[in-house]
Amino acid sequence: MKSIYAKKLRRITAVGLVIIFILSAVGIKFYIDKSKLSEELAEINKSVSELAEKASGGKAKSKNKIEELESRLSELESENDEDKQKIKELESENDKLKEMKKEKSESESSKKDSETDVKGPTVNPQPNTPRSDDSSGKTVYLTFDDGPSKNTPKVLEVLREYGVKATFFVIDGKGYNKYMKDIVNEGHAIGLHSETHDYKKIYSSERAYLNDLARISKIVKDETGVDSKIIRFPGGSSNTVSRKYCRGIISTAAKKVHNMGYEYFDWNCDSGDAAGNNVPASRLVENIKMNNPGTNRVVVLMHDAGNKSTTPQALPQIIEYFKSKGYSFGVLTEKVSPVHHKIAN
Ligand SMILES: [Zn+2]
Repeated sequence: MKSIYAKKLRRITAVGLVIIFILSAVGIKFYIDKSKLSEELAEINKSVSELAEKASGGKAKSKNKIEELESRLSELESENDEDKQKIKELESENDKLKEMKKEKSESESSKKDSETDVKGPTVNPQPNTPRSDDSSGKTVYLTFDDGPSKNTPKVLEVLREYGVKATFFVIDGKGYNKYMKDIVNEGHAIGLHSETHDYKKIYSSERAYLNDLARISKIVKDETGVDSKIIRFPGGSSNTVSRKYCRGIISTAAKKVHNMGYEYFDWNCDSGDAAGNNVPASRLVENIKMNNPGTNRVVVLMHDAGNKSTTPQALPQIIEYFKSKGYSFGVLTEKVSPVHHKIAN
């Protein structure tokens, strides 16, 4: 009996050992597979994160590229505008030349007429009269931005001497605002430029622009009683600086001010007095002669800011130049057909 039990016991033990052996073999295999899997998983995770990094890098790179292209585009646009302006200038130069040629041939032919037609007392002497003395319908609008300042009385004095009227697009000149009343009393037009003239502030949003406009409008109204309806955008309507602060701000502001009954004015003849302080007066006169588009409506850009003291020095010659070209001097109102630049933002 004992031996039967012993035999069974041995067999059971043997079977048990075999089972234990098999189980541990399976266990080891499972463990190995698992560790292999987690290794693979780690590798996959690594490559995923690498891909993500690459993708985001690529995105940033292409964003940079887009920005670069955009700024290049805006540069090209402004270059294009400059070219157009040049072409316009050349065209008007050409027109002037043609007119001169015509006048010359007219006066020559009328000379011939009077020479041949001796007996005719009916010869019209008109063609020999120089045209520049006629009222040819040519008007120049002298405009002064960024005042009032300590220079405003000098500018007013020259204008008074020549009996010429001009337009002042004013800012908040603080202690000099009292000159606004003189501007109006002497028959000049007063327009709205900006309260602060701080591009970063006024061009940050449509609301910011309109608030600034409302404030300078109130100052002008309080100082002079005039409810001015004429505007000049700081930097002109073609400025691209504003793009830095708010995309499309000039386009929306221009529409808005038109809807509010304002008219805005740019210029087509730049004196260049904004190029620096104390640009020699002779240089300013030369700039104006060079930049005069020769059209029937010339709007001259000048500044009566405190640091532009050569502008009033150049003013007598500037006035004399336009007089010699047969221009009369006008003041801007919201009814005057405006000179507009091409809006670039
Ligand atoms: Zn200005």
